[in-house]
Amino acid sequence: MDDLLIRSATLLDGSGAEPTVGDLAVRNGRIRAIGPSLKVDSRQVIDADGLALMPGIIDSHTHFDAQITWDPYVRPSPALGVTTAVIGNCGFTIAPCRPADRELTMRNLTQVEGMSLDVLRQGIRWNFETFAEYLAQLRASGSAVNLAAYVGHSSLRTWVLGADAARREATPDEIAQMAGLVREAMAAGAVGLASSTSPAHNGEGGVPMPSRLANDAEHLALIEAMGQAGGGVYMVTKGGQMPVSLLEEMSARSKRPVMIAALLHNPMNPQAVFKDLDAISAANQRGRRLIGQVSCCPLTMDFTLASPYPVEGLSSWKPALGVQGAALRAVLGDPTFRDAVRAELAAPAVFRLFNGEWDKVHVVEVTDPRHRALEQRSIAEIAAEQGRDPLDAMLDLALAEDLGTTFVAQLLNSDEEAVASMLNHPHSIVSLSDAGAHLTFFTDAGFGLHLLGHWVRERGAMALPEAVRRLTHQSAALFGMPGRGLLREGHAADLLLFDPATVGRGPKRRVFDLPGGAPRLTTDALGVHGVWVNGGLVADAKGLRDDAALAGELMTRFEG
Ligand SMILES: [Zn+2]
Repeated sequence: MDDLLIRSATLLDGSGAEPTVGDLAVRNGRIRAIGPSLKVDSRQVIDADGLALMPGIIDSHTHFDAQITWDPYVRPSPALGVTTAVIGNCGFTIAPCRPADRELTMRNLTQVEGMSLDVLRQGIRWNFETFAEYLAQLRASGSAVNLAAYVGHSSLRTWVLGADAARREATPDEIAQMAGLVREAMAAGAVGLASSTSPAHNGEGGVPMPSRLANDAEHLALIEAMGQAGGGVYMVTKGGQMPVSLLEEMSARSKRPVMIAALLHNPMNPQAVFKDLDAISAANQRGRRLIGQVSCCPLTMDFTLASPYPVEGLSSWKPALGVQGAALRAVLGDPTFRDAVRAELAAPAVFRLFNGEWDKVHVVEVTDPRHRALEQRSIAEIAAEQGRDPLDAMLDLALAEDLGTTFVAQLLNSDEEAVASMLNHPHSIVSLSDAGAHLTFFTDAGFGLHLLGHWVRERGAMALPEAVRRLTHQSAALFGMPGRGLLREGHAADLLLFDPATVGRGPKRRVFDLPGGAPRLTTDALGVHGVWVNGGLVADAKGLRDDAALAGELMTRFEG
């Protein structure tokens, strides 16, 4: 007897092929049969009535390494159609880690991934030191989604160099020790090795994350160690100073795929990301497997004027830095200060996080009920209605609410034509959700639903079968995840049942369910009717189920 029969679904099989209508039967966690009008005896029958059925989404860029130790449901991802998560991206892992380095590791995560130190201290269960022990802990506690874990370069460096990890290059002997740890981790079941060379990645007090201190010899030695057993994917969040040519060399020496993050479109330097993608294409023509991680979401950040991250990099903002309360309010109200900010925003700049795009700044939440009508509206719109300058409109609203107003700014990746061509690039992968990190700034765990709703349905920028392929089989093939990413008889029953006419992600909202009651942003799924991991129902139209099974598999064997 089968466990589940889904009848009359529009089957999008993950290969990119045109959909067919048919039935799908599940037994013992696997797809037992697919076909038109299956005659089966099943414990449960769902009439899909034309709804779309696809393999579950594979999220290739998450930071659930810490969260998974206290939340095996990795909220909010399963409710958003994700059935497999790759953890350890950018090399910001928590294993291997000696007890003496735990505090430093947590403090670094606080800075680089925007995690609260209190949450990490209360939340992380540290029943491990080595990478193999970390995997054993994950296996013992179970998870709602399938997992694949990178071993992280910054953790390896801290293990071998201690406090020097963030200060200097490694000696040949230290590099050899790190290479040994990479081989051990690969043998224990790592999906690959992750690193970062991005200047944006700083630990506590602004010191660089350890992997940023690595020289080319170290990067090459570690990827060769990874590839020695014939497996593994290398991922790196690349700084501008790390050329694609070095990554091509790393791929050539290791004969392994190299994933490059974070390819986001910057309106102030609009060609940069396409230059990287062109270099990636050229490397592929020479037979190397390089792939660029791109995002289908604008990089947006929530902020208040008490701590406005998007504008704090402006030199004209300096008078407002380091002051608080009445002194800060006085600066923000000063017409001279405002004129200086306006002048700086009007001048061209090579790189600037915020560029005076007031139509991309919105009011999220007011504190004074009399201002409620301003919520969800753009500063450009509000200013035009009031016949005032946008900076004045934003600052005066914030001052009227004692700086409590929450705004959101779209900073990067908001040029939709540019993003559409990045998403459709032959050597890009739709990724960069950063799920599990930056929990109070943004939440893109629903990136897959956003691709299906916004880019496929609303903009027609991609065909539905191709979008499904890019969310499923493309990742499964690249990582060599056996038996996943396609609707095929014998494959794992990782399934997402959804309505293409309504699928998407709902508005952001704040919930207070982290350890100690700390807040995080989340979004609800739209148009999702069911999510199954290895045949177990984890989410339905109401979200994560109370009885969601911890049926995820910790994957430790990869093909190809
Ligand atoms: Zn990351």
